Amino acid sequence: MEELQVHNWFGNIVSSPYVVVQPESVQDIIAILKDTSKHPSPVRAVGSNHSMTSCGVAEHGTLVDMRKMNRILEIRPDAVTTEAGALYIDVAQELQKHNLELYVNLELGNLSMGSAACCGTKDASMPGEYGQVCSYASVIKMVTPSGELLEITEEQPELLRVARSSYGLFGIIYEVTFKVKPLEAMSVYHKVYSLDEFDKQLPALKAQGDSIMMYLNPFLETILVEFRHYHETKNPQSPTSWQWKFRNFLWSTLAPFYGYCVTKYVPIAAIRDFLFSTFERLIFLGAVLLVRGNNTLATAQQIRYPAVATKSKYTFSIWASPEEHYISNLRAYFKFCRDYYRVTGYRSNMISVGYRITQDNSSLFSYSSDGPVMTFDPVSTANPGWEGFLIAYNELCSRLGGVPLLNQSDLLTPAQVEKAYGERIATFERYRKHFDPTGRLLNDYFRKLLVVAESALDVSA
Ligand SMILES: Cc1cc2nc3c(=O)[nH]c(=O)nc-3n(C[C@H](O)[C@H](O)[C@H](O)COP(=O)(O)OP(=O)(O)OC[C@H]3O[C@@H](n4cnc5c(N)ncnc54)[C@H](O)[C@@H]3O)c2cc1C
Repeated sequence: MEELQVHNWFGNIVSSPYVVVQPESVQDIIAILKDTSKHPSPVRAVGSNHSMTSCGVAEHGTLVDMRKMNRILEIRPDAVTTEAGALYIDVAQELQKHNLELYVNLELGNLSMGSAACCGTKDASMPGEYGQVCSYASVIKMVTPSGELLEITEEQPELLRVARSSYGLFGIIYEVTFKVKPLEAMSVYHKVYSLDEFDKQLPALKAQGDSIMMYLNPFLETILVEFRHYHETKNPQSPTSWQWKFRNFLWSTLAPFYGYCVTKYVPIAAIRDFLFSTFERLIFLGAVLLVRGNNTLATAQQIRYPAVATKSKYTFSIWASPEEHYISNLRAYFKFCRDYYRVTGYRSNMISVGYRITQDNSSLFSYSSDGPVMTFDPVSTANPGWEGFLIAYNELCSRLGGVPLLNQSDLLTPAQVEKAYGERIATFERYRKHFDPTGRLLNDYFRKLLVVAESALDVSA
């Protein structure tokens, strides 16, 4: 029999499941999980397969593609219930028709609702809100490995907290409910800072209360900050969206395509560097002059990436840094990028980004459970040398006390995961073994990263 090959959206994570199935109902999922001969382990559900790591890989096992289960089931004034394969952007656009919106309007519109409920995500926290999507999941329904239905609600807060970090290892999620709120107008504007200015201004910028997202240039030591807040006096019924269309085009199409072309067609490093710096200065200027407005909608930030990645595709990694150490860690990151370039000749061909995310203990593997965090995330079209760079970036971030995301920070070592999450891994494993004693859903990726001494698992979950 010919071997199947599947890959994630970016194309760098390739695997060979024994079979790929597309359930259309809960009954289909139960049948898949119960039939171990037709549907061998590991069984991994995936939504849009946009993850940067092998978290959704079902090597020689069963890949459950959830995209056919994409119905929006119910919209209430404070909540939306959907099937797990529905896309975040489709849900957001439907809610908008009801004058409602989701809480975290991250850029990736292709995020599936099932993944949103049980995986790591990030967006700059809006004033008074969290920046992790799963924190707003109020009901998660799944089929456990034994084929039983399990519904987890806010009545079981600790179980819900752990399930929000379950990465499909407790069961296949078929339905989720997320909290929603009335649609609000949103202000956005950008400013450019040198690293030293940003250092001086950061306390005041935080005090002003806007969300803070950053584009970071380690080579020019400059930072473009995107500020956002909801604007109560504006009418969200007549918003402008051209600013976000422009930004989305720059970020999701032009910047990666430019990076790809410069890398491919310009062989001389000094000319490439000049082209990157010039382009990034222009992007900063364009954002300051044009990506501003008082009556935009958060939903308009979401991007529907093409189902099949084009030459404009890009990838990235992320680690969260404790906010109190951010500036010294950012200085270390900028220096690391320059030193790494000098020593190895590698620099990423896109600008880095960063987010400020509020303290949030709503999920077990939250990267901001101890306090607010800020991030510096390299982005690239994966020009040659990217993987080696990521390994060194992981070492730097781990040394600086950072926390990675298991679906978005690639090439992690078990020691780095252990250092970041400590005893939380044993807590997770106790729950996982309770729901999945035979490891039906466990793939090699998680088997290698979530390492716990047997003695730590003695206490029942
Ligand atoms: C171009 C691009 C831009 C991005 N921008 C952002 C961003 O702005 N913010 C951000 O936070 N992330 C961003 N990401 C990362 C992305 O949000 C996460 O990797 C997310 O997990 C992808 O969602 P997905 O539906 O593709 O999940 P998948 O990759 O399909 O799955 C992720 C994990 O969830 C599990 N899973 C999925 N569905 C189910 C289910 N129904 N039941 C049980 N388990 C399930 C999978 O097994 C896997 O472990 C971006 C990624 C790309 C490629």
